[in-house]
Amino acid sequence: MQILDKEQLRKNLDEVIWNIERARISVSEHHIVKLVTVAKYTPIENIRTLYELGQRAFGENQVQQLKERTQALKELPLEWHMIGTLQKNKINNLIDLHPSLMQSLDSIDLATELNKKLEAKAQKMHCLLQINSANEESKSGVSPHQAIHAYQQIKESCTHIILKGVMSIGAHSEDKKVIQQSFETTYSIYDTLKKEGATICSMGMSGDYEMAIRCGSNLVRVGSALFKS
Ligand SMILES: *Cc1c(COP(=O)(O)O)cnc(C)c1O
Repeated sequence: MQILDKEQLRKNLDEVIWNIERARISVSEHHIVKLVTVAKYTPIENIRTLYELGQRAFGENQVQQLKERTQALKELPLEWHMIGTLQKNKINNLIDLHPSLMQSLDSIDLATELNKKLEAKAQKMHCLLQINSANEESKSGVSPHQAIHAYQQIKESCTHIILKGVMSIGAHSEDKKVIQQSFETTYSIYDTLKKEGATICSMGMSGDYEMAIRCGSNLVRVGSALFKS
């Protein structure tokens, strides 16, 4: 992907922010939505420009890429989110990067390993439990019927993981109803977990963030829509 000039990025960002605004107001004036820019496809210069335009939160799906970018941009007060599958042999690397939010905690097994390594380093990490809301083989995450139990179990036994809510990727489908249903499934789990302290419901990407917000998402992860030319 190419380096975009500031005016193009401003136009894209304005459009996304406006769409978010319209969708969130349709839920409630009080429904606040956070935008995390998914920078994985784009040159680092675009991140710098988006920062100049006011954007603060950025997401990456690979530990190596996250490391390169946090180091290259360490002079900027950015917030970094890990959003991709975490391999167990990369756990220590991720801990050392101190991400603001690890969104892709996708199994009790991974939570146990992560917790062990956090404990050894005397650190804590904010995480979201990833839910595979449409039970798709291609996606990671806990299945909807195990999600509440898994959340409670991690909360109880992994004291170095601070669970903040849930994350999900919309169903891979052409049918908007199927996608909406996957968001509704995640939202209803989130709604149940509010009494466990959950405050973040991360769902919605470039193709479906408005629908996700109308289904209750309060954090969207948007990539390609911001980097079109
Ligand atoms: C790439 C990615 C996104 C952003 O995707 P776009 O369709 O480019 O907006 C969001 N969430 C996750 C987990 C991703 O891997």
